[in-house]
Amino acid sequence: MKDILPSKKQKYPVVALRDSIVFPDTENALLFGREKSVKAVRMSIAHDKKIVLVMQKQPTTDDPSTNQLFSIGVLAEIEKVMEGNKGEISALIKGLQRVELKKFSQEDPYLEAEVNILEENNDESAEVDALINHIDTELKKAVNLGKGIDVVFLMNIMSGATPKQFSEQVAMILELDIHQRQELLEETNLLARLTKEAGYVSKEVKILEIEKNIHKKTQKKFEKGMKDAVLREKLKTIEQELGGQPGQDQDLKELKAKIKAAKMPRDVHKKAIKELNRLITMNPMNPEASYIRTYLEVLVDLPWNTKGKGHYNLKKAQETLDGDHYGLEKAKERILEYLAVMKLKEDEEAAANKKAKKSKTGKKPEVLRQPTILCFAGPPGVGKTSLGRSIAKSLGREFVKMSLGGIRDEAEIRGHRRTYVGALPGRIIQGIRHAGTKNPVFMLDEIDKVGSDYRGDPSSALLEALDPEQNHEFSDHYLEVPFDLSEVMFITTANVLETIPGPLRDRLEIIEFDGYTEDEKFMIARNYLVKKQLETHGLKRRKVTITDEALKLIINKYTREAGVRELERQIAANFRKVARNVIENNRKSKKIGVKDVRKNLGPYKYSSQMAEKDHMIGTSTGLAVTSVGGDILSIEVGIMPGKGNLTLTGHLGDVMKESCQAALSYVRSLYGTFKLKEKFYESLDIHVHVPEGAVPKDGPSAGLAIATAMVSALTKIPVNKYVAMTGEITLRGRALEIGGVKGKVLAAHRAGIKTVVLPKHNEKDLEDVPDFVKDDLTFVFAEHIDDVLKVALNFPKKSMHYISAS
Ligand code: ADP
Repeated sequence: MKDILPSKKQKYPVVALRDSIVFPDTENALLFGREKSVKAVRMSIAHDKKIVLVMQKQPTTDDPSTNQLFSIGVLAEIEKVMEGNKGEISALIKGLQRVELKKFSQEDPYLEAEVNILEENNDESAEVDALINHIDTELKKAVNLGKGIDVVFLMNIMSGATPKQFSEQVAMILELDIHQRQELLEETNLLARLTKEAGYVSKEVKILEIEKNIHKKTQKKFEKGMKDAVLREKLKTIEQELGGQPGQDQDLKELKAKIKAAKMPRDVHKKAIKELNRLITMNPMNPEASYIRTYLEVLVDLPWNTKGKGHYNLKKAQETLDGDHYGLEKAKERILEYLAVMKLKEDEEAAANKKAKKSKTGKKPEVLRQPTILCFAGPPGVGKTSLGRSIAKSLGREFVKMSLGGIRDEAEIRGHRRTYVGALPGRIIQGIRHAGTKNPVFMLDEIDKVGSDYRGDPSSALLEALDPEQNHEFSDHYLEVPFDLSEVMFITTANVLETIPGPLRDRLEIIEFDGYTEDEKFMIARNYLVKKQLETHGLKRRKVTITDEALKLIINKYTREAGVRELERQIAANFRKVARNVIENNRKSKKIGVKDVRKNLGPYKYSSQMAEKDHMIGTSTGLAVTSVGGDILSIEVGIMPGKGNLTLTGHLGDVMKESCQAALSYVRSLYGTFKLKEKFYESLDIHVHVPEGAVPKDGPSAGLAIATAMVSALTKIPVNKYVAMTGEITLRGRALEIGGVKGKVLAAHRAGIKTVVLPKHNEKDLEDVPDFVKDDLTFVFAEHIDDVLKVALNFPKKSMHYISAS
């Protein structure tokens, strides 16, 4: 059906609308506020109530010129008007027809234009029906999704509108921008208009669906957030009501459970609970809270009642000690004796406990106390630590080692008071915590290197820890509660005995380790160290071997030590190189020989320590034990005109200096024997020097050697280079017993000495020296320096050459 339209051009007042339009066949209420619009409306009302509505291209323009308006608008009729305040007019307007604005006949005081009514094609068809149906359903969906539509409109659409009316109504209610709206207005073909509208309405539904979804999600999130916040607030309030601090309740509960599980003695438990209660009432931000927490964690970590389960079993102990160590017979024997005593004590204790239980007297069961403390004394690398470890293994106990070297502060042993920032328990308690049991084998390493200064004496704290009478209540400053150390088996180690503080030394049962002969080193290397290092280097499955000659070369030319630590390192160095070779060349086996060792380790590091090249005047060969074992010691005496001064150089300790004085006094007293002037020393200066000045030397055992060198220097009689001597000298020239005979004799043997002079009382110590060494040497046992001089100065009486002090 085609509308019949007046094609005659007519003039109408025109109103510019910012962003909306009234479609034909629709009604809408509009508010006119702009002066020109109001005037146009008034003119229209006064005339025939017809008016042309047209949209501006820019909604923001206040007074659009004619070319800022679209050229197609709507001819409408004003149905009702209502005067508003401020000169505005509200009007109910009904759209009539699409018009084209042909020419503006005036612009002021209002717009007026000539318009042409547009021809429309509003033919109906099945397609039109289908589109209407589709738009209808989509619109309902949109309403369900929350699209706000005026009820009147809705009723108009639903109640028997013609397809054209339907399309105009729909155009009115769609969410469109001005261009889309204008497009629909300009579309005179019904089908095309409906098609466009169907597209717009579907898009609108999609957007509404997405919006709804987002809304749902955000709503959910918001609700959950709200719920959580509310619950958290409630929890806080509940916790506060119960007297705790919010958030830490669980933590404290765990700590409480740990305190309960730690099986602390009653007093300690009380203390722990007291501290816990302090912590509970404390603000967690308070720094003290973290100190208390650390303290409680230390307390619950300590093995108040946890023990290693093993018992003293001599057979097993012997097997383990023998299995892990070559030789060391004397040390092993002493250890087994010691363990036997402990075993007897254990049995006694068990019997006493049984009795106490039976009689129900409630008497406290006896505690097994360590009778004395073992001290393994000897140079590094002789197996002290590893024996300690074996003892622990054979007893089924934990092993801990703590180095005392360089400790000068008592707090290192006994801990700092908790008032110090960063305070910690002392090393003993830390060791026990580390062991996790209250009866470990606890090795206190280098007890000879404990010093003392203004910060207190660590040895007194050590004494308390080691004393069986006191150590069941060892007090650590940090802990503040006593800890029972009575079941700990302490073993101490030392390199030299002289520097161990006296009171400590009294408590110790010393087991000396002298160092190994080359043969012993070889056996240890072949049977123990090589195996151990093969394992360490992952070479166990490959056929890697090292020849005996290669091992001997390493011992002789690449190490100089009393123990085997350096030897082990050098073997490891060889294996490292082999490991690389095996991987790179995928070798299955490798035999390390002398050549390989030379290649792997480079030029020889040591040539053997040798005796003097010539018989020398004023130079004697002494024997000493240093921290690396036995060694030969060259002692040089020089004399020069002077005023009777004695100069001593070569980093000598006090005791050794006194030895020099004693030797000189003796020589002075015997001026007659040596045919010297009575006051020969008054016009001489004597200089005693012991080379290798960087190595500290001390002890009285060089006395005989110093006296010999002095006599040689004064008499100009050379000392026999094949003679070495050791022994303390008195003012009367007597030779006194010294220690470390085995190490000294081994060193002399290594150095190619032929005669060793020892104090008479040391004869018994030769028992420890291996036979093959004894067979190579001649021993002279001296009671007096004369016996030494006889051998060392080796002078035929006749040819004696005396010097006279001039
Ligand atoms: P120390 O504590 O005396 O300084 P270690 O116990 O650390 O020496 O010994 C160094 C290395 O030498 C360890 O690997 C140890 O097993 C080994 N060792 C020392 N003596 C022997 C020995 N007699 N038999 C087997 N291995 C030994």
